[in-house]
Amino acid sequence: MSSLDSLISNTIRSDVRAIKGYHVADASGFVKLDAMENPYHLPAHLLQELGQRLAAVSLNRYPVASYATLKRRVCEQLGVPDGYDVILGNGSDELISILDMACAQQDRRAVVLAPTPSFVMYQRSAQFAGMDYVGVALKADLSLDLPAMLAAIAEHKPALVYLSYPNNPSGNLFAESDIVAIIAALGDSGIAVVDEAYEPFAQQSFMGRLPEFANLVVMRTVSKLGLAGIRLGYMSAAPELLAQFDKVRPPYNINVLTQAAAEFALDHLDVLNEQASALRAARSELAQALAALPGVTVFPSAANFLLIRVPDADDAYVKLLADKVLIKNVSKMHSVLANCLRVTVSTPEENSVFLAAITASLAAQD
Ligand code: PMP
Repeated sequence: MSSLDSLISNTIRSDVRAIKGYHVADASGFVKLDAMENPYHLPAHLLQELGQRLAAVSLNRYPVASYATLKRRVCEQLGVPDGYDVILGNGSDELISILDMACAQQDRRAVVLAPTPSFVMYQRSAQFAGMDYVGVALKADLSLDLPAMLAAIAEHKPALVYLSYPNNPSGNLFAESDIVAIIAALGDSGIAVVDEAYEPFAQQSFMGRLPEFANLVVMRTVSKLGLAGIRLGYMSAAPELLAQFDKVRPPYNINVLTQAAAEFALDHLDVLNEQASALRAARSELAQALAALPGVTVFPSAANFLLIRVPDADDAYVKLLADKVLIKNVSKMHSVLANCLRVTVSTPEENSVFLAAITASLAAQD
């Protein structure tokens, strides 16, 4: 064994050595419909103004660590209830790891529980934090299996339950009453994290219900709204609980450019909201067109992506790749997703390219 091999086996955790890194496909030259990004840019005159704002930012100083201005504006403009604050994260990915780090115990393995399939980082982050992960399968129609969730909560006593609302990769909103039942079952022994990454497309939220539940965290991101590149997530909860999480947050985790860009975007939130509205309309059109294709099932979506079932997902995926269209093949994630593909809703032009490519790929399957 080379000295580097032995160094790695002597130092790096075996479970980390055993896994593959989070794979992000190289999308250059592709119509990129794999990551639920907003395809629209800010209008040119706003981009120019943004450039001037960013040029005025002092790069030599650390960010103002309280982020007071940005946090106040997030609270005021994004529907955080009065008396509630937010914590900002370098994307909601970082918020997930902050939650996990704060709840991982030193003397026993605390549990993270989530329905499965759901956002993969819930499991990954739990593993990295040294927690046990329990996944509870969704029903065949991709709704929550509430009795199974409640039984698993009683058995495993999770510290954290993640509920993606709407769920990625299925796109559906779980029943509000099921989520409330889970929050109630957790009581004062577990925290329910309602992950509203796709809220701009669902327009349904638990944010306004924070005052009802001491053990509720509502987490969101600006990524799907059109700002995936700046990496900014936010979460809110009862102030006493939030204060605990804030201790785990790395100081200066939101860089000055992100802060300035986010404040600028909040000045022009109407533009981003209009883009979200266009994408919601495009979602209905694309869903209708796909449903008309023979052999295709389109699942209901409250997000900016659609989950579809086709006769042979692997074959369709490869044919789309050959046509330079990149979507996500989720068919191997879980048996309930057999032959399923996930596609981001995009501009009318890109949606047409996808539609033509999938139509051709299905015709070639016959
Ligand atoms: N939550 C869900 C449900 C997601 O699907 C994603 C990204 N795909 C995230 C969180 C991560 O968002 P961010 O870009 O803010 O890290």
